[in-house]
Amino acid sequence: MLHVAVVGSGPSGVYSAQELVRRDGPPDVRVDVLDRLPCPYGLVRYGVAPDHEKIKSLQDNLRTVLEDERVRFLGGVQIGPGGVPVARLREMYHAVVYCVGAATDRRLGIPGEDLPGSWSATAFVSWYSAHPDAAAGSFVRGARSAVVIGVGNVAVDVTRILARGAHELSATDMPEAALAALGASRITDISMVGRRGPSQARFTTKELRELGALPDVEVVVDPSEPALDPAWLDPSGLPAARRRNVEVLRGWADAPPLGRARRIRPRFFLRPVEILPDGGRVGAVRFERTAPDGAGGVTGTGRFEEIPADLVLRSVGYRGTPLDGLPFDPVLGTVPNLAGRVVRDGAVVPGAYVAGWIKRGPTGVIGSNRPCAKETVASLLEDAPVLLRRRIAADPLDALRAAGVRPVAWSGWQAIERAESDLGARLGRRRVKLPDWDALWAAARADRSPGPERPSSAP
Ligand code: NAP
Repeated sequence: MLHVAVVGSGPSGVYSAQELVRRDGPPDVRVDVLDRLPCPYGLVRYGVAPDHEKIKSLQDNLRTVLEDERVRFLGGVQIGPGGVPVARLREMYHAVVYCVGAATDRRLGIPGEDLPGSWSATAFVSWYSAHPDAAAGSFVRGARSAVVIGVGNVAVDVTRILARGAHELSATDMPEAALAALGASRITDISMVGRRGPSQARFTTKELRELGALPDVEVVVDPSEPALDPAWLDPSGLPAARRRNVEVLRGWADAPPLGRARRIRPRFFLRPVEILPDGGRVGAVRFERTAPDGAGGVTGTGRFEEIPADLVLRSVGYRGTPLDGLPFDPVLGTVPNLAGRVVRDGAVVPGAYVAGWIKRGPTGVIGSNRPCAKETVASLLEDAPVLLRRRIAADPLDALRAAGVRPVAWSGWQAIERAESDLGARLGRRRVKLPDWDALWAAARADRSPGPERPSSAP
């Protein structure tokens, strides 16, 4: 029996578990999916925007995997500092697949980045997604204008959430505090700013289009700005996805003003150079106007422009963080690997694998994690004959318990789900997420079933 630990229960972790147990035939595989949170699903729970119900419903597919009898969810298990060291985990399992994602945000490295009122988009997302580590920020309080830096899908997500009204948000599982704050928000103007042109923006068309469908919101595009992009007037030579983006933006540029209550302004060819203070907090963002360099990049023009902002959300991508005991490439923010096998100083680290964003960087949609996990698991199974030579405890859970770990079982997670449904019912809403560690632990502890066991009848 091959015992594998998967660290992280987001899409890449769950797809890895699924790949490991998918095949029939030897070796017989058992997978423990460990997560530092008592809740599974990673960014599907704590990153996908709450109003994107269809994408959120992917949780149902992931659930099926975690409920497979050859798979066991072990929540509340920290790997690394303050928890089970990587080297110790390695002794407990034949193999470990690290699917820890990209835990932090990229920095802009410009003056004023840390002024009050300037936040990473990931902090804002964590707050409205009820991540238990989220800062209790006053993101929108007192703000009338916002600048979102970056034109990827996260930028579109946070722009849309800022522009949505309380009524629409109350239909989501957003925590009460965030709903109340966003419901009371008086933000009327949101600029979403790219340093390159519209044909190079990273958002996808479906997400972009949604901005134009928000009630009482209009998207305002000044055609003179994107016209710097050689593809603006004739996008026919662009790949389909980018061509569609340009077409959607051009549609907005051609539309007459609608005089709606809130405005979203996609802006282009503006590179942030400083976040300017006003009364000790953000007041504006200073940008340098850029121009295409003919090779897909841009150059500065020496002309500058300020966009007033009471709130700045920096949405310039995620970044992987090192895990003690594993090699790390500080430039790429990933763990060096060959087809998922962890590599240190040019040599494969036996029994250590990676999948997802920590393997390939923070790009792609959720589905991109499937082929990524498949490749890693193929490497692992190829190595299985060697991995199986090492003797480990008959059940790694005993070793984890001996190391002082008391994992939250699947039934503990189900108790959290029930508590969230009960909270929603009390508040007259659908399910509402528990907002902090205390509430999550209290709900998980209400689970009276025995600890996480694997049914002995498992095939
Ligand atoms: P992203 O797609 O990499 O976009 C990052 C944006 O930040 C780009 O516009 C980039 O511009 C800009 N940027 C980077 N450094 C900058 C700098 N120093 N100054 C100004 N702008 C800078 O990242 P993301 O939006 O965080 O998304 C991460 C991944 O999650 C993506 O694959 C995304 O598609 C996915 N995601 C998907 C969904 C969905 O499917 N609904 C939702 C959220 C996220 P350049 O292009 O010029 O570098």
